[in-house]
Amino acid sequence: MKMGFNEGTSLGCKGHTLQADLDLCEKHGFDFIDVRFDCLNEYLASGKTLRDLAAWFKGHRLKPLSYNALCFFNMKQTQQEKDGVIAELKDIAEKCDAIGCPMVVVVPSFNIPVDATRREIRDDAVAMLREMLVLCQPRGIKLSLEFCGAPGMSINNFADAYGIVQAVDSPLMGVTLDQYHFHAMASAWESLEEAEGGKIFVWHLNDMEDLPCGAAYNTDAKRLWPGDRQGCLDHKRYADTLKRIGFDGDVCTMEVFRPEYYGLSLEENIATAAEKTRKHIEKYW
Ligand code: ZN
Repeated sequence: MKMGFNEGTSLGCKGHTLQADLDLCEKHGFDFIDVRFDCLNEYLASGKTLRDLAAWFKGHRLKPLSYNALCFFNMKQTQQEKDGVIAELKDIAEKCDAIGCPMVVVVPSFNIPVDATRREIRDDAVAMLREMLVLCQPRGIKLSLEFCGAPGMSINNFADAYGIVQAVDSPLMGVTLDQYHFHAMASAWESLEEAEGGKIFVWHLNDMEDLPCGAAYNTDAKRLWPGDRQGCLDHKRYADTLKRIGFDGDVCTMEVFRPEYYGLSLEENIATAAEKTRKHIEKYW
């Protein structure tokens, strides 16, 4: 099991940049990084180029795992809005191509303007993702749907996300399993136990405080390092289930967004993330 780092983990640290994340992730033994859109945009705005980034990845062990993320891709109400998503994906795909990033994480829309049923949301997402895959296919870029465990999210549990991925039925289409999101809206364990492990493209590792599912204050800020004493997630069950269903992504990616951890120095943050990820893998894999 390889070690992945999501830039959300260090985003708020003083002096945070994509370049600093890259250097420190390499130094502390990570194998993969989820490159965040805002961090990449800042990197490019600072005068560096995609070619610089590609050259960096070529010269180092650390590689890009995914682009995080194309946000709010579904339930668009007008053709113009849909065209906007496709145009954004085209731009992202070109960036991914340039730096050798094999996958784009896509995030559902929240607080949508219509009272859509789950069926309507599912049909819309399937049609949209199929259209998006047309663009990805020639480049071989994968899409990974990250359902988010928040009440206002249009796709907010594992079963709904997995059903959409199954219906799209493409080797380039998978689901992101984020342990926080899975628990935060009480996704059913049976839905994960019955899934095909090969359809899980990304696994986001974290723990969280024991808060009521769906509570307004149950937010990303309540995430914890896995193994924290305040944590409530059943790590053994996640790991055992992933093994049983044949998860073959082979990367476990740390993703927390805890303000307290942003108070650490950037190096302390990344070194701690590496240590916690390594310990987790040793214990459960
Ligand atoms: Zn995540």
